[in-house]
Amino acid sequence: MFFTDIPSPAGQLRLASDGTDVTGLWLEGQKYFAAGLDPASLNAPDLPVFLETRRWLEDYFAGRRPPALPPMSPAGTIFRQSVWRRLLEIPYGQTCTYGDLAAELGSSPRAVGSAVGHNPISILIPCHRVLGSDDSLTGYAGGLEIKRFLLALEQAGLEWRKKAVILPEASSTPSSEPQEPEAPVPGKFPCPCCGYRTLPVPKEDAIALICPVCFWENDVFDPGEDQPSDENRGMTLRQGREAFRRLGAVREEFLQYVREPLPEELP
Ligand SMILES: [Zn+2]
Repeated sequence: MFFTDIPSPAGQLRLASDGTDVTGLWLEGQKYFAAGLDPASLNAPDLPVFLETRRWLEDYFAGRRPPALPPMSPAGTIFRQSVWRRLLEIPYGQTCTYGDLAAELGSSPRAVGSAVGHNPISILIPCHRVLGSDDSLTGYAGGLEIKRFLLALEQAGLEWRKKAVILPEASSTPSSEPQEPEAPVPGKFPCPCCGYRTLPVPKEDAIALICPVCFWENDVFDPGEDQPSDENRGMTLRQGREAFRRLGAVREEFLQYVREPLPEELP
């Protein structure tokens, strides 16, 4: 057994492999972290399957649709395997509910939920695309903030692709040439925090969006604009606005991700 730790915008990731296939991918601090990973595993950052996975993750976190998945062998019961296989069929940027999966697999939402929760290969097997029956985020072993981040990342990726013109050669052959950064896509609806029109949909319809200018989270779970909540990283809207005026982002650690507002986004 082999492992390696790699940094990512979602925090440190631990990858595990049997030498040829990915057997685990865990987010630091997640539930069931490194479950099943032999403590005597060797740290092997240059294992080919780790390099392949690293490239996949780089594309994924850059908002590009990643190439084919690396080979994977998640260990689990036949039922869990069937659930994980089904998760792989949920397209990028789309979601389904535990109830949908349960109905399809002839099982209970509870059993499906447990199988999803025990997914040993986070992100690659997209258990973050499963929502509660009312489309609520519900649980995620890596934490709701990470789940929301991954869903927002995929939404942003879809928005890019709607506007991007992809040349056939460019889409099929990965190039090592440095690429022009993609132009930011303007939003239409105002962010409740910074006031710039950065949201592609009205705030009320935004399930999991992060404002690209201030990095405020916009979602329908906001219990009250001026109440602190997990959904808004424990901040009130007023605190977020104050931090944005001071820093240019709602938190200092997000400064590296924010961008300048576009002229058409001015309030
Ligand atoms: Zn904003």
